[in-house]
Amino acid sequence: MNYNTEMINEIAVGLAEMMKQAVLSSERAEPGQVRIAEIEMAMREGLRQIGQQALGKLLSALQSTPEREMACACGGTLQYQRMRTATLISVFGRVHYERAYYAGCQCQQGQAPLDRQYGLEPGAVTAGLSALLALAGIEYSYDKSPAWLGHYLLFEVAENTVRSETEQLGALQAQQEADWIKASQQESDLQARQRAPGPIVPRLYGSMDAAKVRTEPRPKKGETKEAHEDWRDMKVLCWYEVETVPPAQRTARHREKLLREQPALRAKNMRYFCDICEAEEFGKLLWATGCRLNADLSPELVFLGDGAIWIWNLVRRYYPNAFQIVDWFHAEEHLEEVATATFPTPEQRTAWLEPVTQALWEGQVEEVIQACQALAATCLKAQQAVGYFSNNIERMRYDRFRAAGYMIGSGTIESACKQLVTHRLDLPGAQWEVEGAVHTAKARAVWLSGQWQPLCQRRAALPLAI
Ligand SMILES: [Zn+2]
Repeated sequence: MNYNTEMINEIAVGLAEMMKQAVLSSERAEPGQVRIAEIEMAMREGLRQIGQQALGKLLSALQSTPEREMACACGGTLQYQRMRTATLISVFGRVHYERAYYAGCQCQQGQAPLDRQYGLEPGAVTAGLSALLALAGIEYSYDKSPAWLGHYLLFEVAENTVRSETEQLGALQAQQEADWIKASQQESDLQARQRAPGPIVPRLYGSMDAAKVRTEPRPKKGETKEAHEDWRDMKVLCWYEVETVPPAQRTARHREKLLREQPALRAKNMRYFCDICEAEEFGKLLWATGCRLNADLSPELVFLGDGAIWIWNLVRRYYPNAFQIVDWFHAEEHLEEVATATFPTPEQRTAWLEPVTQALWEGQVEEVIQACQALAATCLKAQQAVGYFSNNIERMRYDRFRAAGYMIGSGTIESACKQLVTHRLDLPGAQWEVEGAVHTAKARAVWLSGQWQPLCQRRAALPLAI
């Protein structure tokens, strides 16, 4: 929508006059006390009130002269009743408007055609405000969001409104994902992609992880809430690409000793997905979202993970040809644990760790296993490490991975997974209904994936719940 500049100027002159009167009348009470900060904020409030009035007047003005009758969707006829007031909760606060109301059909359904025409939902939050509320809801706890929002919106919103708008957006994403899953299981979808696959990323990465969420299902009759308190795993999936960090943007972390030998890499174009469910279910989401990105058609698909069994099982099942890499830092950490458990002094630890870490860096996993084996008789950690390295030999050929330019540290993704789940869902005292936790996290994942705008547009285009 474009505005007429002359009209803007005209309205601005009127607004300036209104503000001048307000400033001068305040000056009379307290001479010299009104300053720019106060004027600016007062003008914001004035603009909000003008928007509130103008939106109501605009909607009322869009109502044309009502016809005596109109056709009903059921095939019957509706009679014009009267002009009826309705309210919207908009970005300007509560807005009242008047529109023609029809009733008297045999189906008992009344109707206001203006609402249908412009997607107005009386009594509800508008799509525009909903997107703003949800933006606070994915970032702040629901009880803190209203205070924060009040500063931006200049009117009060209830905690429950923020919660329900955020969760509704997450539910919409859940619905979208369910549709993707359904499509990805149909032969026709596969064939359509083979005919016209769309963009294929030459080297696509995938990582999965999980973070704990404290959940509180509704207690059953006769049981206390405490009996049901529970921690559940929120599984997180991230698809991404990797790029070289320009020298000027490298941080201290990128310059770490070992990683200095290869170009500093970072993730880009991250797409996050999450759910609280069994691995079996999560696999369907892994496959469905992978289909959207043509992961199975990518010439090089790389999975980078911490070595959790459920993760490699899913990768093997859905992407048997993918490269599998155990995150370097997790592997290295296992060696440090062995050293700490076995040797009492720092000198002894270093003496053992240095060559064995170097061997791991060179992809000599057999050597690493032997070194752990030598300590296994007296050290449980070493015994466990033998199992860990033996199970992951081919996922730890770091010499080859580095030579091929693969990212071998999943740090970026892990911290992002923490950001996605822990930062929002694991706030002090937080306890979640499973569905609320999932929908909030899904909305947050959409934001972190840069897909907020399309999701909000889908929300705005929803058919009215009449
Ligand atoms: Zn009808």
